[in-house]
Order: sequence, then C-alpha cells, then structure tokens
Amino acid sequence: MHYEFDAVVVGAGGAGLSAALELARQVGQTHRIAVLSKLYPVRSHTGAAQGGIGAALGNVEEDHWEWHAFDTVKGSDYLADQDAVEIMCREAIECVYDLEHYGLPFSRLEDGRIAQRRFGGHTRNYGEGPVHRSCYAADRTGHMILQTMYQQCLKHDVKFFDEFHVLDLIIHQGRCAGVVAYEIATGRLHTFHAKAVLFATGGFGRMYKVTSNALALTGDGVAIAFRRGIPLEDMEFFQFHPTGIYRLGILITEGARGEGGILRNNDGERFMERYAPTIKDLAPRDMVSRAIYWEIRNGRGINGKDYVHLDLTHLGREIIETRLPDITDFVRTYLGIDPVKEPIPVTPTAHYAMGGIPTDVDGRVVTDASNTPLPGFYAAGECACVSVHGANRLGTNSLLDILVFGRRAARHMAQYIQQVDMPAMPDDPEQWSRQTIARLMEGDGGERHGQIRAELQSLMMDNVSVFRTEETLKTALEGLAGLKERYGRVTVQDKGRRFNTDLLEAIELGNLLELAEVTTFAARQRTESRGGHYREDYPNRDDQNWLKHSLVSRGEDGGLVWDSKPVVITRFQPQERKY
Ligand SMILES: Cc1cc2nc3c(=O)[nH]c(=O)nc-3n(C[C@H](O)[C@H](O)[C@H](O)COP(=O)(O)OP(=O)(O)OC[C@H]3O[C@@H](n4cnc5c(N)ncnc54)[C@H](O)[C@@H]3O)c2cc1C
Repeated sequence: MHYEFDAVVVGAGGAGLSAALELARQVGQTHRIAVLSKLYPVRSHTGAAQGGIGAALGNVEEDHWEWHAFDTVKGSDYLADQDAVEIMCREAIECVYDLEHYGLPFSRLEDGRIAQRRFGGHTRNYGEGPVHRSCYAADRTGHMILQTMYQQCLKHDVKFFDEFHVLDLIIHQGRCAGVVAYEIATGRLHTFHAKAVLFATGGFGRMYKVTSNALALTGDGVAIAFRRGIPLEDMEFFQFHPTGIYRLGILITEGARGEGGILRNNDGERFMERYAPTIKDLAPRDMVSRAIYWEIRNGRGINGKDYVHLDLTHLGREIIETRLPDITDFVRTYLGIDPVKEPIPVTPTAHYAMGGIPTDVDGRVVTDASNTPLPGFYAAGECACVSVHGANRLGTNSLLDILVFGRRAARHMAQYIQQVDMPAMPDDPEQWSRQTIARLMEGDGGERHGQIRAELQSLMMDNVSVFRTEETLKTALEGLAGLKERYGRVTVQDKGRRFNTDLLEAIELGNLLELAEVTTFAARQRTESRGGHYREDYPNRDDQNWLKHSLVSRGEDGGLVWDSKPVVITRFQPQERKY
C-alpha cells in the first residue's frame, strides 16, 4: 500500500506519543498525522520506567531549575550542551503540570501536591546534598505516563498503525520523504509518503548480555538513520545502571536508594561513603557502577562472588510496600527474596544510550559538525542525542527529555508541514527493504541469527561495558567484523508471511551489529575517561583534547569515519567532578 500523511511519527513510547499529541493539538484538524509502532503502544519501554521524572517543583524543599541544570551538566561530566539542558530543566515544570492535567495519578504529599523523592546526582544549591526532585507514581511512573499519553492521543483521534515495523527511511533530493514499513500481521510492505518524519524509536540495550532493556530495544531507528548517511553522536557513552538484579539485569530503580536504600559489600560496609562522601549511595550512576566493580575486584563481593547487596531492610515494610511495590514484587518473584527482611543481590546492568541521532533543540536531525539540518527529518527521545545527557545521564532526566523534546520537535514539525509541499519520491522506495527480506528469506548460508546475537551480546559485555582498554576494544572490533561477515549468511527458518518474528529478529540483529561497531569504534577513538566511558589505560578526563562530541559516519570505502563538534557551554565552566 501507499499511504500519504503530512507527518509520520515512528515509535509510540513517551517521546512518540508526546510528539503525536502535540501535533494533533496544533494541526490535527487540518493535517494528517500517523504513528507507526512495531509494538502495541503501551508495550513500549517507557512503560517500564519506575523511579520518576525530574522537575524543580520545590514541593518538599526549596529547589530551582538552575540547580537542576547544574546537576545535569555536572552529571554529564560537562559534555552536555548547556543551551539544551537549560531548555529541558526550565520546561520540566510545565511538563509535569501538563501531565497532571492530563490525569496522571502522581503520588501525593499529605497536602495534595505532587510528591517528590531523592535521586542520584540531584542536589540542593549546586552540590550541597541530595534534594527531593523526582516526581513519581509509586514505582510505576513510566507506565502511568504511557497510559495517560495514549488515552490523550486516542481522544485527539491520532491515527495509529500498530505492529508496523519500520525498515527504511526515504531521503530524496535532499529532503526526507517518508518511511517504508513491514506490516507484522501480513508480511506486506507499505510506503508512507510524508512531508515530515519523526523517529522516536528508543534505545539499544539489547546489544549487551545483561540489560534492563526490553527485548524490542534494538536501535532500529538509529541504525536506519546511520545507514542513510546520518552521522551518530557520542555513541561511546552507554550507561550501566548500578542496580540490576544479579545475573538477570532486571532493574531495581534508583528510587530505592532515593528512599534510603544502601549498597553494602561483603563486610557489610556502606562502601559508597568512600567513593562519594557527600551524596554517598546517591552518586551518579557511572560512579556507583564503577565502585561496585572495584569492590568486587578487591574481593569484597558477597561471599567472594561478583555482586553486592542493596539493603532496604531498615526502611520498614510500610515504605517498601507503598513506595516500591513493583520492585518488591520482582524481587519476590524472581529471587524468592523478601526485600523487607533480606538484602537484594545486584550488579550493574546495561541501561541507557546517551548517544544517538544528532538533533538541535527543535528535534531537527542534523547531518554534520556545523549542524546542517536535513529538511523534514526529526528525532526525539532515547534514539536522539540533543545532547542533554552528555557522557552520563542522571536518573529521571530521560522521562523528562522524551516529553520536553518530543513536544518541541512536534511544534517545529507543525510549522514546517504547513509551509512545504509533499516531497518528490524516488522510483522504487521499497527496493532496499525488499532485497533485504529476500536475502534473509531465500539465502542458504546456514547461519542462525540467535547464535550470532548471543555472541554479540557476550562480546560487548566482556569488552565494551563499564571498563574499557585499547586491548578490549580491539578484541571487540575484530570479533564484530567476524560476526558481521557471518551475518551475511543468515537465513531465517520461518518462510511464512504472518507474524514472522524470525525474520524481524534477523533484521534487528543487523541493526544491533551496526550500532555495536559504531559504539566500539567511537570508544577506541576517545583516549580519555569521561562519564560512562571509562578507559583503564586513560583514567583521567582530558578537557584539553576531548571536551567535544564525537560524530561517526560510514565512509565511501565502507570504513567508519570519525569527526567531532564543540560542546555548547553557557553558564557552567567545566570543573573537577567530585561528590
Ligand atoms: C527498566 C527501565 C526503567 C527506567 N526508569 C526510568 C525512570 O524512572 N526515569 C527516567 O527518566 N528514565 C527511566 N528509564 C529510561 C526511559 O524510560 C527511556 O529512556 C525512555 O522511556 C525512552 O522513551 P522513548 O519514547 O524514546 O522510547 P521507548 O519508550 O523505548 O519507545 C520506542 C518506541 O519505538 C517503537 N519502535 C522501535 N523500533 C521501531 C521500528 N523499527 N518500527 C516501528 N516502531 C519502532 C517501539 O514500538 C516503541 O513504541 C528507564 C528505562 C528502563 C529500561
């Protein structure tokens, strides 16, 4: 089928829904808007977010958006663009009240105002001590955001194409002209011709073996943009969250430490006191994850094993069961442990992509170091890099990012689609998608995508996770070259057209391999340590040479090409990062 829309949003998580809702409100009466999602919307990963959304409401104690901005910049190890951070922290307050007005059931203070809790790296008065800034709905904040936004979109008659898997982006004569999607129920390809396209396709934690990310987080949008010539920004920065359930990677929200939870080693010691004397267990994630591994390396893992304890037992049943009900269930279900009585075994888990598709503060995708936009192409949410998180994201700032920049992108798109005509289309927009499917369905190479995916995840976990060196990165790049070569011989077993998840998983693997290569390449280039990127062979931050964003693209000879662009600094000069 060939569809025509004015604006197409790809992805129905928080970023996609917030954009779709704003488009519907602004131009929904006169313009055609569609949302395409490979998942049924409320199954998007935003629904798994537990801890909260950051905004300086000041409901519990004094707070200011400028303090929030400072924390975000410091948390980013000074790599975030400060103009974007200022916008995010300022607009945060209005964003949270909008959610309240849409009907989101926030947890409340006794006087009825929105409750707020502490979170890692969020401080009072430029670093004095932890502040209550995270607005939450128990430990189901993302679930509530997703339900609320989806209901609002339905109310505004947004057109949804559920279980449409986007395979390709159409760029023609210097403009973005639409997307090609595969309908999962029928196996048919469809072309969506549009004046503007927004990618809100989420992250790619499935590149790693132990991750908090849902199965669907394979970075499709990021890989598609890259294949179509968009450079990727800051891909060496991937966040490991300190508290995944041991071996399973399932997340225990930082809100658990925000409520007073403590990390302990085998001696029962609260070891974060040594690493971050002022804010201790509420230090930013990159620091806590490294500290956990240092404890384990020094033989202080629990019973000599490779995990530590998250201790909530002193909080009491009341707080645990009312403020952290879902994670309490997870722990009881998956570990058979009652967190009211026993500490929880945890290790770091791959969690969040700081890097992605480069955009400006209006969500426009930019194509080079001088920030030249590609007309009609937008990105927002975890797939994008605006960049508000720099080298390390603070907890609660992603839910904020997706809402603020999803909406801002939509506002720009609404203007744009009123000004331009439909773009021209290439002769055969589905060519790449058709050929790719045919190769995977009809080949006889004998490789299985599941096997390659498992090897990829182990390779990345062992060599490109919390600690990196020249040697591990070289090993990873060599391993990836071998896996990519084998990927060329993958054949899917299911030859049917209906709900062919075998085929889709093979396509997703192609995307993960691409992004793993870019991540590793970028990590090898950056010979310093900053935020989530820690090089044991270059353990210090080096502002002289590396206070800049990386941009990686594919050169004409098929190799990767490295470039950089400056960091925007407005009010906070880089300082040593201590807590
Ligand atoms: C367990 C967990 C807990 C978290 N807790 C918090 C928290 O408390 N606070 C916080 O700020 N952040 C948290 N985060 C991070 C935050 O939730 C995510 O970064 C954010 O929700 C991402 O939103 P998104 O809209 O960009 O993407 P997602 O919500 O991941 O949505 C992606 C969408 O893209 C669609 N899509 C993807 N590929 C395709 C394709 N090829 N074709 C069509 N559609 C496609 C999917 O169907 C989906 O609808 C958490 C993350 C996890 C994993």
